[in-house]
Amino acid sequence: MIQPCSKYAPIPMCDLQLSHDYLKAEINHAIMQVVRSGNYIQGKQCRLFEIEMEKYLDIKHAIGVGSGTDALFLSLLAAGVGPGDEVITTSFSFIAAAEAIVRVGATPIFIDIEPLTLNINASLIERKITQYTKAILPVHIFGKSASMVAISNICLDHNLLMIEDCAQALGGRDEQNMLGRGDFNCYSFYPSKNLGCFGDGGMVTTNNDKSAERIRILKNHGSYQKNYHFDIGINSRLDEIQAAILRVKLNYLDQFNGLRSMVALAYNDMLKGVIKPINQDHVYNQYTILSNKRDDIKKALSYNNIASAIHYPIPLHKQLVFNSKEKLPVVEQIVNEVLSLPIYPELSLDKIETICNIINEEVV
Ligand SMILES: *Cc1c(COP(=O)(O)O)cnc(C)c1O
Repeated sequence: MIQPCSKYAPIPMCDLQLSHDYLKAEINHAIMQVVRSGNYIQGKQCRLFEIEMEKYLDIKHAIGVGSGTDALFLSLLAAGVGPGDEVITTSFSFIAAAEAIVRVGATPIFIDIEPLTLNINASLIERKITQYTKAILPVHIFGKSASMVAISNICLDHNLLMIEDCAQALGGRDEQNMLGRGDFNCYSFYPSKNLGCFGDGGMVTTNNDKSAERIRILKNHGSYQKNYHFDIGINSRLDEIQAAILRVKLNYLDQFNGLRSMVALAYNDMLKGVIKPINQDHVYNQYTILSNKRDDIKKALSYNNIASAIHYPIPLHKQLVFNSKEKLPVVEQIVNEVLSLPIYPELSLDKIETICNIINEEVV
């Protein structure tokens, strides 16, 4: 293999060590408090984090769970989605939501995307609604809000549940509201998310008391009273150490999201000849450009020790596991053009300039 011979220091996709350095004292203190308490599961930290998230998201119930994937699975279970049901979702995302739909025994119905937002194309949803449709599951891809006003109206008109995958969009807004106004809203605290812990973690939020109770029972072996089981659940809890870390980082989320936006604005300013993300209702978990020279750009960056990533190279309806016969032309084209560039709150202007110069040289 040819070794890159860059004059630049390597630039990773995200640099978790940097934000940890900034918060090290607070986080170490929070971790040690949990260690000393001897209470590692379903304790005070998790409950306090839930209350702080309820306040931050302006929602009645927030329930910590083991991961974003579990948040989706538990939401579908609690919503009563099961065999014979269809759930409408986007073909352009990480597999977790579609996987959870199949896990509960239902069928994902994949919809094509809007070429500029890369989100589910709301104008294509209604023709896919059948007597079996139970829910719509939009994903705010890369941190950019899906068209929530249109999708909410479709849910109301057709009496469908809305389950939102907010894993990449914590702190984001749509045209009118804070994201996460669905019947169930699912979050991930995977380390590279806008609010990340030091392992796996997730959350479901809802304004409905009964739904919240269902999630609380299902995530804890079908039980809310020790030794009494009311349902068949799973074990999916947010541990105390993760909750304690998340409580510290939640205080900085808006600041870090603001810095991500500034990085994105700098990219928008300096990049030429590529399609850039829409600069509205976006919290930039990823900064993803489109170019028909994608592979050349990726190679040039890599030669200079700069990371980039293809999210996602295969549309979900083309994954063999889903065995779908759909033809979705926009997403099938776009997977050949997407390239995510390094983005994290501390990414410096001179590094952004270096990255942009290399890209501009490839495309112009
Ligand atoms: C990260 C992610 C998930 C899954 O979250 P985990 O915590 O890793 O299980 C689901 N959906 C999307 C869009 C994601 O980016």
